[in-house]
Amino acid sequence: MSMTTLVDLRSDTVTRPTAAMRQAMLEAPLGDDVFGDDPSVNALQSQIAEMLGFEAALFVPTGTQSNFCAILAHCQRGDEYIVGQLAHCYRWEGGGAAVFGSVQPQPLEHQPDGSLALKDIEAAIKPDDAHFARTRLLALENTIGGQLLPFSYVEEATQLAQRKGLGRHLDGARLFNAAIAQAAQRDTEARAEARRIAQCFDSVSVCFSKGLGAPVGSALCGSRELIARAHRIRKMAGGGMRQAGMLAAAASHALQHHIDRLAQDHALARRLADGLAGIPGLQVETPKTNLLFVDLRGEAQARSAELLAHLKQNGVLATGLYRLRFATHLDVDAAGIDRAIGAIRSFFHA
Ligand SMILES: *Cc1c(COP(=O)(O)O)cnc(C)c1O
Repeated sequence: MSMTTLVDLRSDTVTRPTAAMRQAMLEAPLGDDVFGDDPSVNALQSQIAEMLGFEAALFVPTGTQSNFCAILAHCQRGDEYIVGQLAHCYRWEGGGAAVFGSVQPQPLEHQPDGSLALKDIEAAIKPDDAHFARTRLLALENTIGGQLLPFSYVEEATQLAQRKGLGRHLDGARLFNAAIAQAAQRDTEARAEARRIAQCFDSVSVCFSKGLGAPVGSALCGSRELIARAHRIRKMAGGGMRQAGMLAAAASHALQHHIDRLAQDHALARRLADGLAGIPGLQVETPKTNLLFVDLRGEAQARSAELLAHLKQNGVLATGLYRLRFATHLDVDAAGIDRAIGAIRSFFHA
């Protein structure tokens, strides 16, 4: 990587399509997906549904729309979904399910590992009483804040939801990062772990535009019936796309070629964490996947904006204020990470 190339660690969404991905996009057979006859969209939907063990899938422009379609496919007006305070589909989606769907969230505090305590979930489920919204859905996120939810927890929480008659939705924007981390723990294969996690849920949303490196798109997976409802909601949300096969082809390419390489992103996040260890004023977390969080403490806090500006001057981009976030991805390599380490060390004269 040359010194003029930006090391953009703001998000794993910043990747550009690779040459091979662009070629796949150019060669994609196309139709009109609103008529249901774009072969590349249909192929992607079959591919992801089959991979995760569902009857059907729906290609959507964004993860936000995917979660929105899922929540509205599970819930009616006056229903509610149980969700984490920090979950994307509560905190980061403009309140869409409430605004457009009249579905209220019931947010819960997270445990330090990102999970929602089973007793909190159970206590949040309302009795059938006219005072209360009808509790219909549990929505989990994995990975959450870069953390892998323990698989035993995923099983217990989703079994609890099922016993209580709730639907179960997974925001798996980074499901494949979770799968890579879980496969490393269990010494198994990432695709098998992705499916194992997904099969605990009635619906799963995955992003192609994060670590998988596609320019656009997510997929919602579920039963034929649920996906038929989601399809109607996608139309209402303006998400029916025409020759979307060019985008679907990028996603298919990513599913074929970019899953196993996520392990490299995880290794680079660890490399960055190791490189920052011991700098006074920085509390460096141990990254579980591709997101590294670094808290600024004491005097370093007051210099946060100055630090980000210094990094930018050195061609390194990150986000945050007192808690910085660094995301590794397809367009970052070890040299870039070392440049980031050098820039941060030089700032602190460490
Ligand atoms: C990025 C993300 C989404 C959706 O993002 P879009 O920008 O709408 O594609 C949803 N959930 C999680 C956890 C995410 O990280």
